[in-house]
Amino acid sequence: MPVFPKSEALQALSIFDEDLNHNPTSTDEILRLLSDVGSKATVAQTGGRYFGFVNGGILPSSLCTKWLTDAWDQNAALYVISPIASKIEEICERWLRKLLKFPEETVAGFISGSSTASMCGLLAGRNYLLSNLGYDVTKSGLFNAPEIKVIIGEGAHSTIYKALSILGLGNERLIKVPADDQGRIRIDLIPELDNQTLLILQAGNVNTGAFDAFEGICTKANKARAWVHVDGAFGLWAAACPSMDHLTKGLSLADSWSLDAHKTLNSPYDNGIILCRHKEILVNAMHMTGSYVIYNENRDGMLYTPEMSKRARAIEIWATLKGLGSIGVSELVQELHSKAVYFADQLHEAGFEILNEVVFNQVLVRYHSDEKTEELIKRIQISGICWVGGAKWSEKSVMRISVCSYKTTYTDIDKSIDNMVLLGKSLGLNE
Ligand SMILES: *Cc1c(COP(=O)(O)O)cnc(C)c1O
Repeated sequence: MPVFPKSEALQALSIFDEDLNHNPTSTDEILRLLSDVGSKATVAQTGGRYFGFVNGGILPSSLCTKWLTDAWDQNAALYVISPIASKIEEICERWLRKLLKFPEETVAGFISGSSTASMCGLLAGRNYLLSNLGYDVTKSGLFNAPEIKVIIGEGAHSTIYKALSILGLGNERLIKVPADDQGRIRIDLIPELDNQTLLILQAGNVNTGAFDAFEGICTKANKARAWVHVDGAFGLWAAACPSMDHLTKGLSLADSWSLDAHKTLNSPYDNGIILCRHKEILVNAMHMTGSYVIYNENRDGMLYTPEMSKRARAIEIWATLKGLGSIGVSELVQELHSKAVYFADQLHEAGFEILNEVVFNQVLVRYHSDEKTEELIKRIQISGICWVGGAKWSEKSVMRISVCSYKTTYTDIDKSIDNMVLLGKSLGLNE
């Protein structure tokens, strides 16, 4: 199938533009419609030549587990609603803590993605800092709360700004610290930290893949009793790979971390994780009571995230981890990165400009000028051979390549590059 649907397939979607039928439709008919029309309008991100955004593929262990557990349709809110979900969440939490080399007291909540996981981490941090100032925001709300200082690097992901605005911290009233040419926060420009500071760092810039320098600043933050949240959506997995974990040095000194299993780990959507080393603060931030809620001495999943009812998504993470083993996770992380490096080297040789240091999965590519780069991206996107996205980097138009599917082979990369070179030539620039 083409990596991106052909225009006929997209036009055929108009079949869904109908009013809700009065009479029931058979399941067979529903599935036939989806299979015949829907399938053709999907994006082949489970194949080896999808390099858009930072998406990740889906390993068979996790896909098959999803099919089975979807049939179970478990609600992971409470132990008494699903003992199996509770048990597996507990095991996943333990495995992740060990794999990522996090402190013994770290707890995990299983949630839709890094956007929501960051909200949880920043919420816990906000509440902690306000309680340092003698203010109980859970009870009193933000109306008369003392101010806290929010420090963020200019290279932070847009979902962090969104989380801050949802949490009442505003997305403009922040201390924005300039980033270096790779999007790393300039440690030397971070202002004094204190016990009223929420500091947000990043493991894996969405464009360049760059990691902030955690060790020194986290040590300082710990001394000052500031709260550090790390957005590690796809990059945090470097901590599970001995040949890459120099990137995450000192990261375990933070207070909370958000990451995705649906990106680098190749688990299905939607699988985000909030990790926090202050269980009480996280759980208190999510607190809820109701006479019918029966808490258990076993793990109750709803205590760690905002939702009550939720699907038992952790089982897919468990299956992915069990399927790979710790050695397999490490190899997966290493392989994705090695392929990104190969991609960058081959493109460079073919005359493309590589704008970033390729440190983890991401490659930023430029072709002559803004206009030509943008036009090339458009042609690649409709080619059906591969798919790449675009962005602005240092005010220049760039092509973003993200290697994050286990399916991608060196042959896929070669084929994609041949396509890019050919399309480049069709722009009349390479002759
Ligand atoms: C993808 C991504 C996010 C958002 O994660 P979702 O799982 O899409 O909610 C946040 N930060 C970074 C660095 C990302 O790559």
